[in-house]
Amino acid sequence: MTKLTSHGNTAGSIPENAAGGVLHIDLDALAANWRILRDHAGGAETAAVVKANAYGTGIEKAVPALSKAGCRTFFVAHLSEAIRARAAAPDAAIYVLNGLFSGTGSTYAEFDLRPVLGSFEEIEEWAGFCRAESRKLKAAIHVDTGMNRLGLTMPQGLTLKDRKELNDFETTLLMSHFVSAEESDNPLNAQQIEAFEAVRSSLPGVPASLPNSSGIFLRDKPSYDLVRPGYALYGGNPTPSRDNPMRPVVGLEGRIVQLRWVEADDTVGYNGRWLALTRRRIATLSIGYADGYPRSSSARGKSGDELLAGTALVGGHTCPFAGNVSMDLITVDVTDVPETDVKRGDTVTLIGGELTIDEVGRRAGTIGYEILTNLGARYARTYRGGEG
Ligand SMILES: *Cc1c(COP(=O)(O)O)cnc(C)c1O
Repeated sequence: MTKLTSHGNTAGSIPENAAGGVLHIDLDALAANWRILRDHAGGAETAAVVKANAYGTGIEKAVPALSKAGCRTFFVAHLSEAIRARAAAPDAAIYVLNGLFSGTGSTYAEFDLRPVLGSFEEIEEWAGFCRAESRKLKAAIHVDTGMNRLGLTMPQGLTLKDRKELNDFETTLLMSHFVSAEESDNPLNAQQIEAFEAVRSSLPGVPASLPNSSGIFLRDKPSYDLVRPGYALYGGNPTPSRDNPMRPVVGLEGRIVQLRWVEADDTVGYNGRWLALTRRRIATLSIGYADGYPRSSSARGKSGDELLAGTALVGGHTCPFAGNVSMDLITVDVTDVPETDVKRGDTVTLIGGELTIDEVGRRAGTIGYEILTNLGARYARTYRGGEG
């Protein structure tokens, strides 16, 4: 990856040379990604999903950068995240996706937050709170069109228009969520759109929202009034069968703490799960699963095996992991790197360049979303840009 400079706004208290790994977050790329998505949104408002600490990038940095780009509406999962987002965006609309927990109405009111109501119980509670306060506070309603996870069932959604509680608050958004929008040919996409249309037409005048990142790129999809991208903002590929239209936002570098040669028939790491077939050179990196780097990226087998395991970019060379990822360390086979190109203290890329978050996720047997949202609190973080 191109090495990012911190422009003096290194956040957090961990100095780079005291940390095992350095996370580089490019807020200009984040803002550029928001603009790319806005240009694909067919005139709908482009919100930003900033749950899970803005997918690991930091709510306090991401929200102001997105606000400066023009974003006016944010979604988080938890009320605690919403309070952090409110501090970072005093005037934005902020929705809490995971719904209304009993007794939290006054916190919503205090911070001007909007719950996403997903059951008749939640709707009744919110309506009751609004009646007690004599205020028509704002909320979204979530209808489940296929995920079977969160939201009113379809039959419930179709009776919404008859619920008298809807008069007690202001429904600022009717929303649903795609099951597999990243699979552009999945027939479920069209079925969900059709179901959503049915509920939407029964509640005329209520703004509607369906697409997530991948949904924005579906052919012939309606954008409705507001789109809710998350992953693509942070550089994830919303169109996995095609090239990634987004800019990378996150880079991760670790440092080589030791280099050693191991002999043929030596094993490397816990439980001796990786066997050197010939003499190999091993670099030990100062990052491990306690930093959120997945242990499922471990390389088990023999040196030279074509394994689906993690890789690192060492001196410009792609090097495979060797052995189990430990809590604080990763061992990498650097035999193929010219000896003069690698030394103790060198910086190694774990996310960046060809090692996209999608690729790192694939090599860990998971998705890039999980890579991002696990980015550890132990990293030094450098932020670039974001000045708008
Ligand atoms: C997380 C989430 C999103 C964002 O999804 P991405 O795939 O990250 O774009 C949108 N809507 C809801 C309801 C979500 O839970």
